[in-house]
Amino acid sequence: MTYIEEVYANLKQKYWYEPEFLQAAKEVLDSIAPCVERNLEVYKNNKILERITTPDRIISFRVPWVNDKGEVEVNMGYRIQWSNVLGPYKGGLRLHPSVNQSILKFLGFEQTFKNSLTGLPMGGGKGGSDFDPKGKSDREIMAFCQSFMTELYKYIGPNKDVPAGDIGVGAREIGYLYGQYKKIVGNFEGVLTGKGLTYGGSLVRTEATGYGLLYITEELLKAHNTSIKGKVVAISGAGNVAIYACEKAEALGAKVISVSDSNGYIYDEDGIDLALLKEVKEVKRLRLTEYAKKRPTAKYYEGKGVFKLKCDIALPCATQNELDIEDAKSLVANGCIAVLEGANMPTTLEATKYLQEHNVLFVPGKAANAGGVATSGLEMSQNSLRLSWSFAEVDAKLKDIMVNIFKNLEATAKKYNLGSDYVAAANICGFEKVCEAMLSQGVC
Ligand code: NDP
Repeated sequence: MTYIEEVYANLKQKYWYEPEFLQAAKEVLDSIAPCVERNLEVYKNNKILERITTPDRIISFRVPWVNDKGEVEVNMGYRIQWSNVLGPYKGGLRLHPSVNQSILKFLGFEQTFKNSLTGLPMGGGKGGSDFDPKGKSDREIMAFCQSFMTELYKYIGPNKDVPAGDIGVGAREIGYLYGQYKKIVGNFEGVLTGKGLTYGGSLVRTEATGYGLLYITEELLKAHNTSIKGKVVAISGAGNVAIYACEKAEALGAKVISVSDSNGYIYDEDGIDLALLKEVKEVKRLRLTEYAKKRPTAKYYEGKGVFKLKCDIALPCATQNELDIEDAKSLVANGCIAVLEGANMPTTLEATKYLQEHNVLFVPGKAANAGGVATSGLEMSQNSLRLSWSFAEVDAKLKDIMVNIFKNLEATAKKYNLGSDYVAAANICGFEKVCEAMLSQGVC
């Protein structure tokens, strides 16, 4: 048994009930093999793989709150502080009924390598709750956020752990969380990112993940002697990442033909009408059926189906494991040339393998969607400096970071003879830096 196989077998035995975490661990461990082989003795002696697959700590707590009927409700809250070898723990908070420890462990583990790839001084973490924000009133959201922060504040701080948004956590939720933190601690400080512009937020943070995804898409296509202009793009999701991926793709001359939510998807053969999409999803917070009602060229279909559409580029931007083997087969059959993950781990391991084997360029989330956390890092810098940079300044820095990530993937692929295997390149590149810092800091 190799060192990697041994470590994975132990994880599987210990955490058999955490499938998402095991999936993420397997993907990373398998792909860093060339790097581990080169440094086997040092890594083994220092138990590097055992340490990096174990979080620094897992905090879990009760979140009681009162709904609009005056009834008490109880949810579980979590913060997983994975690694702070590169900087304060950094990663989003997710509010979704599917949230559990396995999902947050997979996200915290992945976040550590993603943050390393950005080149900014940020460790990795993730948190959230099984609270479902759908259909809740503003007051209920505030009550939940205040109760959640009443426990979480004990474990976070601008030099310790700086949470951000994720699924179900946007500007409104960050505002309520920040207000409660400030009330308890009494300090006005950069403890959260994704804040409103009036109280320390950064321009471009809202757009960052989607824009960053398109910046790296441009670089990828350039490296393979083509461009985004005129390409047909299929996007899944209709949240923050999907909307701004759509905006930048259209600005760069592509045609986006789809968006989706957990009920169904829109196919719009004339290209998604961004203003209408924003009105439906961001302003009115309605379902996608409303988009179809107002747009004669759009068709709404119940259930999954985005990746069955004919497209040149697919950008899964909704949630984990949404693109499965059947989708991968359709994409290949329809001539898709590139898949870049806007969401975290949206592609199953089987589908990823199939796409790579069929020469579809594939960039994993930890590189492709790193623009969000990178801009959060820029928000932290602005807060420390007590400055606000202009939209153009932040956007230029974001673009630089995404271009650099792609250059580093290419350099790592070259160093280890990986060809266009950007999954292995991203994992190795993120891992090498974390590993070097761990070795420098001793056994801790
Ligand atoms: P949002 O909550 O803004 O949007 C999520 C979208 O995905 C919604 O359209 C939602 O539909 C859909 N969705 C959620 N769960 C499911 C599901 N189980 N099946 C089908 N569709 C689903 O989240 P974000 O756009 O912020 O995040 C999307 C993904 O991107 C996540 O994986 C997140 O971790 C990742 N990400 C986000 C970053 C950010 O800056 N926001 C940064 C890096 C990664 P519905 O409304 O029906 O729930």
